Amino acid sequence: MTTGLSFYDILNLPKNAGDEDIKKAYRKLAVQKHPDKGGDPEEFKKISEAYKTLSDPQKRGIYDQLGDEGFRQHEQGGGGDGGGADFNPFDLFSHFFGGAGGMGGGFGFPGRGGGGGGPGKKMMQHTMNVSMDDVYRGTTRKLRIKDDRSCPQCESTCQGCGGSGHVMQHIRMGPMVQVMQSACHACHGKGKVSTAAKATCAKCEGRGKVQEVHNVDIQVPAGVSSGEQAHIPISNNLDVLITFAVSNHPVFKRRGNEIAMEIQMTLRESFLGKIFTVPHFEGDIVINTLDYGVIYDNQKVRIPRKGFRQGPNAPRGDLVLWFYVTSLPEKVSKLIANDADLRKMLKDAFDYMESKK
Ligand SMILES: [Zn+2]
Ligand SMILES: [Zn+2]
Repeated sequence: MTTGLSFYDILNLPKNAGDEDIKKAYRKLAVQKHPDKGGDPEEFKKISEAYKTLSDPQKRGIYDQLGDEGFRQHEQGGGGDGGGADFNPFDLFSHFFGGAGGMGGGFGFPGRGGGGGGPGKKMMQHTMNVSMDDVYRGTTRKLRIKDDRSCPQCESTCQGCGGSGHVMQHIRMGPMVQVMQSACHACHGKGKVSTAAKATCAKCEGRGKVQEVHNVDIQVPAGVSSGEQAHIPISNNLDVLITFAVSNHPVFKRRGNEIAMEIQMTLRESFLGKIFTVPHFEGDIVINTLDYGVIYDNQKVRIPRKGFRQGPNAPRGDLVLWFYVTSLPEKVSKLIANDADLRKMLKDAFDYMESKK
């Protein structure tokens, strides 16, 4: 994969750019060209690759020494960290911008990130497991949240602190008076105290606590990744921080906005064709490999627009079929070695192929 452009060209930087320039260039371009903003995923990936390389002094050194082509060979040849196929530019993006919370600042992912809890607000953590099917479509999940609160009927505002939970102490030190804030002893910092009615309170049966149950609909955004978070206000007292965890799929792997499926083929199937079913989220897709000719080892076939969206309005990525062809099995090897007729047939076949060159 040669782009024609060097990593410096991609980030619009001179060769002597400093670390801060590299960061700035990435920050600007990654936001501009993010696929959620309608940017081209390939271009976004190149920007991310360029940043990943130039921001790492060791990699940058190698890149400057070997040039574009040499660097790629070095990375593929095991000299690198295998950052090629598995490299996810979206992970880099979220890492750089400090996770979903950081993107809430005007980046426009609805319902994700942003807004801190008010003072005294409780924040509950919840991990939400979602399937790749959910990620493909985006969906809504019901969530039942139980919130233990102090009983409003038998607890009253603490007189000692006026409900704030803390008191000011004035300590005289010679000519100076120092003011210190400390937790209120009367209510142990809670701001509320149980009243005499607690023992006989019907609302909480003397526990001093009541449970509020909230049933909320949680939006699972299409294209959401593991680790992404959504900050949802539930009530005046409670927020919940949802962390999404995408479970593995038995057949598909996710690569950014692409769905990848690996298919093993025998030598015979690669020559004569193989028919199989892709259990796609929109319905089964039957593939006859002969439609793509004779399949070679490591061949990739793209089925356009059957992958993920990386945001509600972003275009879908592709479904990518990766074919792996098993080379000559031992059984067949022995068969050919021991069978003169078979060798003659193969020789004729190869002679025929060569005559067609
Ligand atoms: Zn108090
Ligand atoms: Zn009560």
